Amino acid sequence: MKKPTLKFYRRILQISVAAAFIVIPHLNHQLRINHVCGNFLSVRVFGLTLADPLAVLQVSIQNWYVAPGILMAAGIVLALAMCLGTVFCSWICPYGLLSEWVHGLARCFLPENHKGLNIRISAFRIKVCIFMAGMLFTLLFATAPVMNQFSMPAWYSRVFQYLIVQKHLSVAVVVITVILFLEFVSRNRLWCRYLCPQAILLILAKLVNPYRLKVAWQKEKCLISDSDQGPCQKACSLSLNPKTLNEALETECTNCGDCVTVCKKMGQALSFQLKDAGAEGEK
Ligand code: SF4
Ligand code: SF4
Repeated sequence: MKKPTLKFYRRILQISVAAAFIVIPHLNHQLRINHVCGNFLSVRVFGLTLADPLAVLQVSIQNWYVAPGILMAAGIVLALAMCLGTVFCSWICPYGLLSEWVHGLARCFLPENHKGLNIRISAFRIKVCIFMAGMLFTLLFATAPVMNQFSMPAWYSRVFQYLIVQKHLSVAVVVITVILFLEFVSRNRLWCRYLCPQAILLILAKLVNPYRLKVAWQKEKCLISDSDQGPCQKACSLSLNPKTLNEALETECTNCGDCVTVCKKMGQALSFQLKDAGAEGEK
C-alpha cells in the first residue's frame, strides 16, 4: 500500500477544521453543547481560548488595554507561527483550502495559454501597506475592529453561524464566491498571497525566529536545471519557486510541503529544516 503523503495529512486536517466550523454552530445552538464554541476571530476549545492576533491587536489598541486572557489566546497562535511558520494558512484556514481547490480547478479547466495575472510587486509589501492602512483607520476613525471585516476565515465561519442560528444566508457567501471567482480567472491565489491582513502578524511572528521551520533546497541534489520550471514549482499553489526562496520570498511560503512532497520522488533536494536563514546567506 502506498504511504500517505504529507499533502494527504494536510488535506485531512484542513477538511476537518472546515467541517468543524460547520458542526460547531449546530452543537452550540441546537444541542446546547458548548465545549467548543466561537469562530475564527476567537474560539474556545475545552477551556482553551485561541484568538486571531489581528483582532486582539485592534481591540487592544482601541481600548488602550490588553486583557491577559486574550493576550495569551493570541500568543499561542503567534508562538505556533514563530516555530512552524505560517502553517495556519496551509494547514488550518478553511479559506486557504477553498482557494487551493479553486486554483486546482483553474489549472484543470483554463487553457494552458491563459497565463493569468502576473503581479511583480512584493506580496509582503502589499500586505504590510494594507495592514498599516487598516491599523491607522482603526486608530483614527473606527469604533469597532474594522479589519475583522477582511478576515476570510471569519467570513467562512460566519456563513454557518448565520445559517444555523439566524436561519439566513450571510452576505459572506457572496464575498467569498466573488473572491474565489477572481482567483479562478486570474489563476492566482490573490487573496492569500497579496491581500489577506490576517496573515501579516503571523508572518511577522515567524520572522522573529531565525530557527523556524522552513523549506531548504540543496542545489547539488537537484535533478532539474536552475532555469527550468521543475515539478516543485508547479506544485506550489502560491506560484513560488521553492528553489529560490530567498529571504523576501520565504515570507510568502506557508510551509504547506507540497513542493517537498513532489521532490521526494525526484532528487530529494527540498526538505523542511530548522536553519538560520541569515547564517545560511553568510556562508
Ligand atoms: S492568507 Fe488569510 S485567507 Fe489565506 S490562508 Fe492565510 S489566513 Fe487564510
Ligand atoms: S514553496 Fe513549497 S512549502 Fe512553500 S508554499 Fe510553495 S509549495 Fe508550499
